[in-house]
Formats: sequence, structure tokens, C-alpha cells
Amino acid sequence: AAKAAGKGRYAYYHTHLSDSLILRLSKESALQEAVAKDEFVVHYQPRVGMSSGRITSMEALVRWQRPQHGLVYPLDFIDVAEDIGLIVPMGEMVIDKVCRQLAQWKQEGLALVPVSINVSPQQLKSGTLSAFLMACMERHGIGPALIEVELTESAVIDRSQVVTQELAALRSLGIKLMIDDFGTGYSSMAQLHRLDVDVLKVDQAFTRALSEGSEGKLLFGAIMSMASALDICVVAEGVETVEQLNVLQTLACDEIQGHVVSQAVSAGDMAQLMLKRFLLAPPRGPGRLAPV
Ligand code: C2E
Ligand code: MG
Ligand code: MG
Ligand code: MG
Repeated sequence: AAKAAGKGRYAYYHTHLSDSLILRLSKESALQEAVAKDEFVVHYQPRVGMSSGRITSMEALVRWQRPQHGLVYPLDFIDVAEDIGLIVPMGEMVIDKVCRQLAQWKQEGLALVPVSINVSPQQLKSGTLSAFLMACMERHGIGPALIEVELTESAVIDRSQVVTQELAALRSLGIKLMIDDFGTGYSSMAQLHRLDVDVLKVDQAFTRALSEGSEGKLLFGAIMSMASALDICVVAEGVETVEQLNVLQTLACDEIQGHVVSQAVSAGDMAQLMLKRFLLAPPRGPGRLAPV
């Protein structure tokens, strides 16, 4: 009996291991196929100016329409794509879709705002990002003022020649550079200054920590004064409540992004949002902002 139980345990352990391995391998091969067949779709989330109440820009966020699985979110596949060398071709598909979408909106007569594109460190290291972006913008007739690039702190502290050249090339194309998830990495003020970063997207963790009179408010305020000294625009990520919005307004945060205004939506729904005059009520005197 003991032998049987031992065997059973072994069998269980063995199956368990291979199950996760099989899951991983099948996700990898499904991702290969997704890139070959283009199963990706881009959703958009507006960024709103605190003083204007209007859309200032929007972020492109990729989703994978995986057959038999429905819509898969980036946290479930970006890491895998990076591990198996698919992030560059996938990233190129995102860039192409964004430029194509901007061209379509332009044709439909919508007032365009810039789109920010998330870029993995590997895309920068590939050394092909700026050339691909330029060719794509040209092909779709999209000017550089309509494209912004979101980089992670880990990507910009890499001072390798190829990354430095890519960042300089993006800059010279006239593309705005943004630091995403600011505060979670190790970038310094000096680096932000040297890189000539235009926008800081402060990580959602800082927004969550905000409430009147809290330490979180002090911390966010410190980021605000550093950024304003460097003439960098600050965006608060993941703003979910009107209370957070009001604290951010007192801190003179430039822009917000988050569910309090809108989650990421399809291109069609984004077009509807672009038609609205305001996404936050226009400020009247010292009045407070609220979502429209
Ligand atoms: P991120 O660039 O920091 O994007 C913000 C994430 O927070 C998005 O998740 C967005 O949907 C979510 N979010 C926005 N507002 C709120 C809010 O108020 N509350 C909460 N709880 N969440 C909010 P998503 O779309 O799942 O993307 C996750 C991450 O995947 C992104 O984080 C980005 O790092 C990466 N990613 C997305 N698209 C791409 C892409 O095309 N290429 C690359 N390389 N990475 C991408
Ligand atoms: Mg981002
Ligand atoms: Mg972020
Ligand atoms: Mg993030």
C-alpha cells in the first residue's frame, strides 16, 4: 500500500509539473500563432488635462483575442512574448495599428490627439524601433506630434549605445518621451533631466496612497515639485475616485488617467469619447472637478 501511495504521489507531482509546463508551452505556441495571424487588438484610454477637462492624449493598450479564450490582457502574455523574442514583432503590430487608427480617425474628420505607445526595454535594445516608427508614420501619413512613447525606468537607465541612440533618434523625430510607472524603478532626477523626458506617469501605487492629509499626498507633492523644476508634465495613473481627483487638483497635477474618467475602450468607443467636449467638468473658479 505504501508503495502504491508513493507511486501515486509521484504520479501526481509529475502530472502537476508537466501540466504547468504544457500550459506554458501551449501559450508560447499560441502566441507564435497570434503574431503570425495577427490576433491582437488595441484599446485606448484617455488622458485628461486637469485644467482643461479635455482629452490631451490617449494610451494604446494591447489585447490578445485568443481563440477559445476570449480577450487576454497584457499581464498574461507580455512577459511570455518578451521571453520568447516575440515582443518586437508584436510591438510593431501595435505601432502599425495605432498609426492606421489615427489615419482613419483623421479621415473621419475627428480632432486628433496624440497616442502614447508602451515600449518594452527589448524593443529599444533591438535598435529598430525608431526606424520602424518613422516608416510606419510615413506610410500612414501621421506626424510625430501624434505619437508618444512610454518607457520604463529600467529601459532608460540602460546606457548602452544602442539604447542611447534609439532614444536620441526618437527625440530627434520629435516624439515625446514618457516615463511609465514612475516611482517603481530606480531612475534619478539627473537621468530624467539628461534624457529630456517630457512626461512622467506616476505609478498607480502613489495615486492609491492619496487621501487628504496623508503621507501619500506629501510624496506626490514632492514628485510634483521635482517635475515642475525640470519642466516635466505629470500624469497620475489609475485615478479611480473623485476624492483622489480632488487631492490631485490641489497638488496641481497636470493630467490624470484612470477609471474615474474611463477605462481602456475599443477604438469605436474611443471615437465617441473624442467627440465629447469635456471629460471632466470645466473648472469654475475654485470649484472642484468631477467626471462628466
Ligand atoms: P501601463 O502602461 O502602466 O498601463 C496602465 C494599466 O492600468 C492598463 O492595464 C490599464 O488598463 C490599467 N488602468 C488604467 N486605469 C486604471 C484604473 O483606474 N484602475 C486600475 N486598477 N487599472 C487601471 P493593461 O491594459 O492591462 O496593461 C498592463 C500593462 O501591460 C501596461 O501597464 C503596460 O506595461 C503593458 N502593455 C500594454 N500594452 C502594451 C503594448 O502594446 N506593448 C508593451 N510592450 N506593453 C504593453
Ligand atoms: Mg503605459
Ligand atoms: Mg503605467
Ligand atoms: Mg503599469
